[in-house]
Amino acid sequence: MVIQKVGVIGAGQMGNGIAHVCALNGFQVLLSDIDEARVKAALDVIEGNLRRQVSRGHIKDEDLERTLRNITPTVGLDAFGEVDFAIEAASEDEAVKKSIFRALCPKLKPDALIASNTSSISITRLASTTDRPERFMGMHFMNPVPVMQLVELIRGIATGEDTFQTVREMTVKLGKTPANAEDFPAFIVNRILLPMINEAVYTLYEGVGTVEAIDTAMRLGANHPMGPLQLADFIGLDVCLSVMQVLYDGLADSKYRPCPLLVKYVEAGWLGRKVKRGFYDYRGEVPVPTR
Ligand code: NAD
Repeated sequence: MVIQKVGVIGAGQMGNGIAHVCALNGFQVLLSDIDEARVKAALDVIEGNLRRQVSRGHIKDEDLERTLRNITPTVGLDAFGEVDFAIEAASEDEAVKKSIFRALCPKLKPDALIASNTSSISITRLASTTDRPERFMGMHFMNPVPVMQLVELIRGIATGEDTFQTVREMTVKLGKTPANAEDFPAFIVNRILLPMINEAVYTLYEGVGTVEAIDTAMRLGANHPMGPLQLADFIGLDVCLSVMQVLYDGLADSKYRPCPLLVKYVEAGWLGRKVKRGFYDYRGEVPVPTR
């Protein structure tokens, strides 16, 4: 099957990035959210990110114009009858996603494919709420989408081989590199990355090192581009906690228990960069460790 027109549901942080890379790589894109203001805000973000790519010499001026022309904003799902492939990137809430799929399926062409960008919800379970589990799979982009190279591809139990190969080819057309993951909690990247971050928080909690010592140790001792606590602040401590909770609940193994200090930061509302405070305080000129 040939994909020409892509519909992206949810125009938040991930949805605008997915629309950006699809449109830049020649796909017609329908970008949808629940109200006009959110879609408009997403288009502004996409334009700003494209301008940054132009200023860095990664793309040309005409690419910017062409990319923006390829994106049609919309509210709701009525226009989705035209799309060959719907990518759901709405809020990480199972009830929200299921209600989107129930509303979406009757509008889609019978042979249209669906992917979810979920970070943690079972693909098999989401697929079961659609009328086409064999045409449904996980397509997990990394944040920020225009910059990050990887897309995890996840088959649900019913995902058909044609569906998988079509989405794999599309991933390559987007200039991304796919990695296949089975449908288990948190897939590959978050299954490995989040327990490491959680362990860094335990290391802080137990007083083995300060924020600065832990991040310096992992940057210079393990050659990581960013320390684990700095990275946690980037991801958002609430997101880190929720992935640990998914691993803990889904795999029923105490090695995934979220560190109480991570819970405390989230309870304090110190969620990382997005609120200017987490393991570092970002309110001044330079980030200052909070422990
Ligand atoms: P976000 O909060 O930035 O965006 C979610 C968007 O979905 C919002 O604009 C919201 O208005 C919209 N939305 C909610 N209900 C909707 C509905 N019924 N119809 C259409 N739109 C609706 O969230 P995000 O960070 O972009 O995450 C989106 C998805 O991507 C989640 O499943 C998340 O787990 C996944 N994800 C996030 C990251 C990340 O680092 N943020 C990375 C990979 C995957």
